[in-house]
Amino acid sequence: MTLPIGFKELNALLPGQVKANEPMARHTTWRIGGPADIFVEPAGVKELARLVTWVHGRDLPLYFIGNGSNLLVKDGGIRGIVVKIGRAFGKVQVQETTLIAGAGAMLGVLAAAAQKSGVGGLEFATGIPGTVGGAVVMNAGANGSSMADLVQEVMVMDLSGELERRNAGELGFGYRTSNLLGSSLVVLEVTCRGVARDPDQIRADMEQYLARRRASQPLSYPSAGSVFKNPPGKTAGWLIEQAGCKGMRQGDAQVSLVHANFIVNLGRATARDVQLLIHRVQQLVYERFGITLTLEVQVLGED
Ligand SMILES: Cc1cc2nc3c(=O)[nH]c(=O)nc-3n(C[C@H](O)[C@H](O)[C@H](O)COP(=O)(O)OP(=O)(O)OC[C@H]3O[C@@H](n4cnc5c(N)ncnc54)[C@H](O)[C@@H]3O)c2cc1C
Repeated sequence: MTLPIGFKELNALLPGQVKANEPMARHTTWRIGGPADIFVEPAGVKELARLVTWVHGRDLPLYFIGNGSNLLVKDGGIRGIVVKIGRAFGKVQVQETTLIAGAGAMLGVLAAAAQKSGVGGLEFATGIPGTVGGAVVMNAGANGSSMADLVQEVMVMDLSGELERRNAGELGFGYRTSNLLGSSLVVLEVTCRGVARDPDQIRADMEQYLARRRASQPLSYPSAGSVFKNPPGKTAGWLIEQAGCKGMRQGDAQVSLVHANFIVNLGRATARDVQLLIHRVQQLVYERFGITLTLEVQVLGED
């Protein structure tokens, strides 16, 4: 197989951190996705800066991902470079009620550290399987709270490798969105302000949220969580169920029998299966309610 354009140079620049034709199914919680031409997991900030400055000025698309828990990567894969912000960016610190986390830290790890130190605020995040970076970009939320309630500032890197701090007011937070989504900035570090709270009470809330998730979400199959955003005043899950879509199947993709806003991968689902199912759900909900469901999951790649 021929090596993708730029692979050799990048491999020399970042030894051991670059892969060619990497199946994205390995990097998404849906376990779906064709190959990325080039996949990089930088070993640190210096290496990331080297990478982005190398890409800058070359005509190569660049995508940043975290844990791939909100991503649908199409079967044809991704032309360009995918950069995973992972373990090398996973440091978590608690200073009084301030939480400072690398963007690659798992949200659950940060929530557990906060609990141990008696810092409340992140209880809602229990069970969200994303990185802190992905959670900020998506303004992840549950149980009536979201990242926007806690985030004070983020450190980002631009395509010239320059670091910049942005405060919460500059991030354009909205329902499952921020202005970082689709921008060329990569999030490296997030500072959150929590509140002092009894660790036992924090733990009790976290356990309750987790129990609720286990009872209401299909956690034994690969998925990307909620596929659609909730339209104003309604939940997407209710609309989908009322439109008769629960259990509907395309190949190995199925509208979950447990939670209708989840599409689960029963084994060998393709992105095409998921896309067809998404389309049918949208059609049926529109026919029944006149509402167009919009996607919460981010779609990358080509057919
Ligand atoms: C079982 C399950 C339950 C879920 N429950 C919830 C829930 O309750 N609430 C909720 O909000 N979500 C939920 N999700 C969805 C998902 O976990 C969140 O959206 C999460 O915040 C995504 O983080 P990630 O690291 O996986 O990001 P990814 O999926 O890797 O990326 C998501 C987006 O963020 C961008 N991005 C990621 N990291 C960076 C970075 N460092 N710099 C710049 N851009 C970046 C990507 O380009 C992409 O556009 C659930 C998912 C699953 C599978």
